[in-house]
Amino acid sequence: LQRNPGESEFHQAVHEVLDSLAPVVRKHPEYLDAAVFSRICEPERQIIFRVPWIDDAGAVRLNRGFRVQFNSALGPYKGGLRFHPSVNLGIVKFLGFEQIFKNSLTGMPIGGGKGGSDFDPKGKSDREVMRFCQSLMTELNRHIGAEVDVPAGDIGVGTREIGYLFGQYKRLANRYESGALTGKGLTWGGSQVRTEATGYGTVYFAQEMLRARGESFDGKRVVVSGSGNVAIYAIEKVHEFGGTVVACSDSSGYVVDEAGIDLDLLKEVKEVRRERIDAYTEHRGRLVADGSIWEVPCDIALPSATQNELQEADAIALVRSGCRYVAEGANMPTTPDAVRVLTDAGVAFGPGKAANAGGVATSALEMQQNASRDSWSFEYTEDRLAGIMREIHDSCATTADEFGSPGNYVVGANIAGFLRVADAMVALGVI
Ligand code: NDP
Repeated sequence: LQRNPGESEFHQAVHEVLDSLAPVVRKHPEYLDAAVFSRICEPERQIIFRVPWIDDAGAVRLNRGFRVQFNSALGPYKGGLRFHPSVNLGIVKFLGFEQIFKNSLTGMPIGGGKGGSDFDPKGKSDREVMRFCQSLMTELNRHIGAEVDVPAGDIGVGTREIGYLFGQYKRLANRYESGALTGKGLTWGGSQVRTEATGYGTVYFAQEMLRARGESFDGKRVVVSGSGNVAIYAIEKVHEFGGTVVACSDSSGYVVDEAGIDLDLLKEVKEVRRERIDAYTEHRGRLVADGSIWEVPCDIALPSATQNELQEADAIALVRSGCRYVAEGANMPTTPDAVRVLTDAGVAFGPGKAANAGGVATSALEMQQNASRDSWSFEYTEDRLAGIMREIHDSCATTADEFGSPGNYVVGANIAGFLRVADAMVALGVI
C-alpha cells in the first residue's frame, strides 16, 4: 500500500487476488522462495506521457497517456486502451493486474498490460478523435509491437479509435505490422467475432454456470448494465439463448423494456448515432434517470459497464428479487462487500477475469490469423470462442474443488490464473 499511495482500485484488485492464494502458498513453497507474490504485484514497466492535440476550434488541448506493461512471463503484454476522463495510474494498474490472470486463464501465450488516457471521446468530432489518437500513438509506438506489447480497445476505444491508432502506427513504423494492435476492422486485418467476443463470451460463461446447476437461459429475465460494446453483444447472445434482457443503461440512467431490449434500436442509438440512452425511450421502454439498475428484478445479472458499479446495497436488492447468477462482463464491477452478499446468499458468481476473457482470447485468435496471414470464418471463430469459454469455466470449477472451495469461481479463477504465470516466472528466473 505504501509503495502505491492513492491507487485504491489497484489495492482492491491486488487484495482480491492475494486473499485467494493462501492454499497455494501451502502447496508451493517454491513461489515464496522466488518472491513470485511480490514480483507479480510490481509492473515490469510503466510509461506515462503527454498527449497534446488541437481541437476543431484551433485550441491546443492536453491529456495524459498511460501504458502499464505488467507481466510478460507468458508472452507479449496484451490488454486494452481505455479513453475516459476517470483514467489515472491506479485504474490502469488495476486493469493491467487483472489482465495478467485473465490472459493466463485463456491458455494462450499472452502477458498482461493495459493503457489509456483521460481523454473523453464523448462530444468530440471524428477529426478530433483522429488527431488525439495520432498524438497518443506518436509516443506509444516506440513501446509496442507484435512481439512486444499488443494493445486493443476498452471503454471509449472501439474500431474507429483502433483504426486511427493503427494508421499512425503503420505510418511511423513504415510497415504493415497487423499484429501490433487487435480489434481492427475486417478489411484491414481484423478478426471475425472480435467485436462481439467479450459480450458473447460472458454469456457463454454464464451458460456454463447455469448448466452446472442444471439450468439454461431459456425463459430467464436478465439485466445487463451498460450499453457499450460488451453490453450490446451480451444482450444479443442472451436473446439468442432464449432469455429476455429487460434493462440496460449508460452513465445517464437506465432503460426498462419489459418486452425485451430491441437490439436494432439500441445499436442504432449507441453505435450509429452515438447518443444517450434516453434516445431509446423515444421509441419504447421507460427511462429511469435516478437509482440503480440492480433494483430491476431478474434471474441473471451481467454487470457490463465499469468498475465498482454493483455495490453492497445493489447486491442485497438482487438477492431479494431472486437473482441467482451474476457474471461480470466488465472488469471488477462488483465491490468486495457485494461479492460477499451474493456468495453468502448462494448466488453463483462469475468474476470478470474469467467471465469476460472471451474478448482477449479472440484478440489472441486475431494475432494468430495475422501471423499466418489467414482469415477465419465467423462460425469457426465463434466455435473457438465457445470452446475457450467452456475450458475457462471448467478450469475455474476444477481448481476451486482442488483447493478446497467447491463452487467458488473467484477462488478458482484467481488460483488457476496465478499458477500458470507463477510457474513461468519461476522457470524464467528472478527478472
Ligand atoms: P464501452 O465504452 O463500449 O461502453 C461502456 C459502457 O459503460 C457505456 O454504456 C458507458 O456509458 C458505461 N460506463 C462507462 N463508465 C461508466 C461510469 N463511470 N458510470 C456509469 N456507466 C459507465 O466499453 P466496453 O463495453 O468495451 O467496456 C465495458 C467494460 O467491459 C469495462 O469494464 C471494460 O474494461 C470491460 N471489458 C471490455 C472488453 C472489450 O473487449 N471491450 C474486454 C474485457 C473487459 P456512457 O457512454 O454513458 O459512459
